[in-house]
Amino acid sequence: MKITLDTPLELIQRLSPFQKKALAKMHLKSVGDILRHFPTRYGESGLIKAIEYLIPGENTVVFGKISKLKTGKTYRSKVAISTAEVEDSTGKIKIIWFSQPYIAKMFFDGMLVRIEGKVSQKRTKTSTEAEGELYFSNPKIEKVSEIPEGGSGFLFPAETDHNLTPVYPESRGISSNWIYHFMQKILGNEIMDSLTDPVPEEILKKYNLPSLKTALIWIHCPRKKENAEIARKRFAFEEIFFIQLDRQKEKFIAQREKSFAIIKNEKEIKEFTDSFPFPLTLAQQDSIASVLSDFKTGHPMSRLLEGDVGSGKTAVAATAAFAAVSTLPPERKYGNLQVAYMAPTEILAEQHFESFIEYFSKYKIPIGLITGSVAKKFPSKTLRLRSGQATWTKISKPQLLKWVANGEIPILIGTHSLIQKTVKFKNLSFIIIDEQHRFGVRQRMELRKKPARMNDVSRSGGHDIAPHLLSMTATPIPRTLALTIFGDLDLSLLDELPPGRQMPETKIVLPHEREETYEKVRTELKTGRQAFVICPRINDPDPDKENAINAKSVISETKRLQEKIFPEFKIGAITGKLKPSEKEAIMKEFSARGGSASGGKNKIDILVATSVVEVGVNVPNATVMIIENAERFGLAQLHQLRGRILRSSYKPYCFVFADLPRRSSGEGGSKTIARLKSFVNAKNGFELAEADLQQRGSGDLAGAKQWGVSDLAMEALKNIKMVEAARLEARLLVEKDLELKKYPLLARHLSSKSTVHME
Ligand code: ADP
Ligand code: MG
Repeated sequence: MKITLDTPLELIQRLSPFQKKALAKMHLKSVGDILRHFPTRYGESGLIKAIEYLIPGENTVVFGKISKLKTGKTYRSKVAISTAEVEDSTGKIKIIWFSQPYIAKMFFDGMLVRIEGKVSQKRTKTSTEAEGELYFSNPKIEKVSEIPEGGSGFLFPAETDHNLTPVYPESRGISSNWIYHFMQKILGNEIMDSLTDPVPEEILKKYNLPSLKTALIWIHCPRKKENAEIARKRFAFEEIFFIQLDRQKEKFIAQREKSFAIIKNEKEIKEFTDSFPFPLTLAQQDSIASVLSDFKTGHPMSRLLEGDVGSGKTAVAATAAFAAVSTLPPERKYGNLQVAYMAPTEILAEQHFESFIEYFSKYKIPIGLITGSVAKKFPSKTLRLRSGQATWTKISKPQLLKWVANGEIPILIGTHSLIQKTVKFKNLSFIIIDEQHRFGVRQRMELRKKPARMNDVSRSGGHDIAPHLLSMTATPIPRTLALTIFGDLDLSLLDELPPGRQMPETKIVLPHEREETYEKVRTELKTGRQAFVICPRINDPDPDKENAINAKSVISETKRLQEKIFPEFKIGAITGKLKPSEKEAIMKEFSARGGSASGGKNKIDILVATSVVEVGVNVPNATVMIIENAERFGLAQLHQLRGRILRSSYKPYCFVFADLPRRSSGEGGSKTIARLKSFVNAKNGFELAEADLQQRGSGDLAGAKQWGVSDLAMEALKNIKMVEAARLEARLLVEKDLELKKYPLLARHLSSKSTVHME
């Protein structure tokens, strides 16, 4: 049979339903998929050995028959243990597992198993070192249906020196070893000679990167470590290069589009910002200046404003919005230019609506709010505050949309509802997207395209006018990552917090310090402050599941805190499972100001939550945060969480509880400690983001999940030179040949992978 990249795996080799399921889980369906299923590392545990040849201290795989399975407890510390023996045709070896009593229940004497782990050696007082008995301690164990060819003997010579057996990501039912053997079949097939390389040859040459075929062979069965490394480099380059091409193309096209030129002089802008109750930080001034200079060009701005929580992005957004709405369109026929400001949640949209009312208080500029549940307009024609100040009113959606469509409402703030077909603008000139990381790359791209059609084109003379775009994010990301995934955007950083803000005191709390920590929290709460308690889970796991993750849950922690720790305070709970309206109600209660009106009492003193509070909710009175099971959160997420208590001039406290392995010997343990230490020490989000990137090991899937970038590319992002090279080549290519006519392979590859929907 002639196989192609599209050939399904089950046509290469018969697969059991179980194996098919496992492969599907890893997204491995075709030959092409599995060729790009790269090893995470080589050697060490990849080497299968006969038991006779085991050497203490080595990571090894043995196959054999298991027997003498028993459970028990260690003599002194009463830790549950399982013990067993495994035997192949050359010998036997003992195994011991600590704290994994279920192993003895999952396996039975006589089963064939694969054991992977480090060979240890018992030390006895009398014997010399060489004589101590060998055993495996806490190895991985897996049931197998057969002992692989040579697995119990001599086809895998113990003295081999090119110990570069690939170790693949596995899944239950498909072991690394299985993939290895499957891969050998494909690599030996003639398909390897008909592969076409999407990366232009001259680029590969320029950077000394191997061709696709060579790289595939080198990454799956390298002869030398350097081969594997250069192959990985090629694939990392390729991935970044493709992303860059995609973004550079976007950027290039956007630059050719037309936008309303918004030309404002410094004096006009200063008048607006002088009405703020605070002076702008230098970083805010710089960002505003960049926006204003982009605005002038007549081509759409595409700018990303990156700044820690509390760095004052809203003020920048408001100033930019002011510049737009105080500008008349060229024909002067249809009223002022319009601005759309989109937030990921209703709570945030409401908050921006209120902030904008304040920022624009001196100007009689109408502002609208539209979310899934409500439409509001400022100022109300009839309602006034007791102070005589203008305020907002609820209005019907059709009414609001009418005013937006005829240009009477120049600023519209909202959630996704903003981009529905029914929302039409007359002169939409500028779009602001808050917390843009929450929208995902695909959504972001769509958003950008859509609004060009949101103007009421028929009336504005039939021209498509692309709006300017300001994306904002409180997730500081490393420079290389920003250059890659946001390669189509220009970057402004707010790397400075407004003066007077106090850095939170962050402390890693040891288990025996829990009580005294609660006392400190009590002291803060007594002065009227509020606290967050963040737990990784919503509910407790099923206690019958032996593998269940032992982490604090919102439900039981709320109960425990209320009953046992803080009976005198009011405790609320919020999780991502609640309906948006329920979440909102709770957040409103939590943020209801205590103050004199309520006798200084808060409606909720402690809010127990999952990470749903992550996104920029503003509760200046909340100054304490407890994070439970901090080991389960990524650095960026921890930073976001801590940002919630940075809102006021009161001293904030962040207490970090983490479940650390008793001995920090394990790789996981020391990694966690390093991570938490940088969390305690980092001065700002940007520092933390760089630390995060440097600390990521391969196999850390956070990158893939969060940014849609593979682990391999994440590794490459540690290397600014590679990112810049990929960016440069992508730009040159796009400038030369936007449609990639001379690179049909590349064009096809891009369109199949593209994250952008062609409408
Ligand atoms: P974020 O960047 O997280 O969106 P916000 O725009 O919500 O931050 O601003 C956080 C708080 O800081 C707001 O209460 C705002 O009024 C205040 N603020 C913004 N800029 C300054 C500044 N230059 N000086 C003092 N306070 C400021
Ligand atoms: Mg914000």
